[in-house]
Amino acid sequence: MPKRYVEMKGEDLELAEQVLRDHHPELLQGDFHVVFQFVVNEDAKGLMKYPKPDKHGNVVLGKAKCYSAADRAAGCPDFLVTLLFNFWEDALDEQKRALVDHELCHCGVEETEQGDKPMSVPHEFEGFVDELKRHGPWAHQLRKAEKQLVLWRDAAGNVPTDEPDSDDDAVSRLATDPGFLKAAHDLCPSGRDGIDSVTISTPHNGKFVTPTSDTGRNIQKIRDKLLAAGAEEA
Ligand SMILES: [Zn+2]
Repeated sequence: MPKRYVEMKGEDLELAEQVLRDHHPELLQGDFHVVFQFVVNEDAKGLMKYPKPDKHGNVVLGKAKCYSAADRAAGCPDFLVTLLFNFWEDALDEQKRALVDHELCHCGVEETEQGDKPMSVPHEFEGFVDELKRHGPWAHQLRKAEKQLVLWRDAAGNVPTDEPDSDDDAVSRLATDPGFLKAAHDLCPSGRDGIDSVTISTPHNGKFVTPTSDTGRNIQKIRDKLLAAGAEEA
């Protein structure tokens, strides 16, 4: 799939630099040069196309590169942060901040006898403690990690329940459930079959729902968003 790299500017850059100032002052104090850019995924016709998740359902949302001393001497910045524009353009500000913060957590400072040097920091777990502290379990993998911690803590006595703990959690479980997705796919008209909507009634309580082709597309969108939010960054 063709990729295009574009400079980050305007309010996007302001948001990223705000995160840098708020949470990574050590990079500014050390006068480290961080460059932000977007990668845009497109199809063969040049239209925006969300990257296909890998077989684990993950999409790379961002990358942080730390340049070598030789590269820096040749004019490269200390760090290059590349963010997936296809995710960014639909993301909430809080998701954007969390993503920038995550990538900046990869940008570290190593104290050496010759002075501070930029260094690449690997993952501590499927995210960062600071990220979790500042933004909560905003992504699927962090929610999974959070559940693991709850299970571990409750080993002391409290029986953990498997009930959804919020509306978001309930939606996230439903929209990524293969059985639900199949039912939705089978029930919602595709829009290509000449059927605009299907009405399903439940005789025992007289209620009915009317899925349309938009319903199917919306369910798919929610699922893609959830999978993207749970994506692992490289
Ligand atoms: Zn990462």
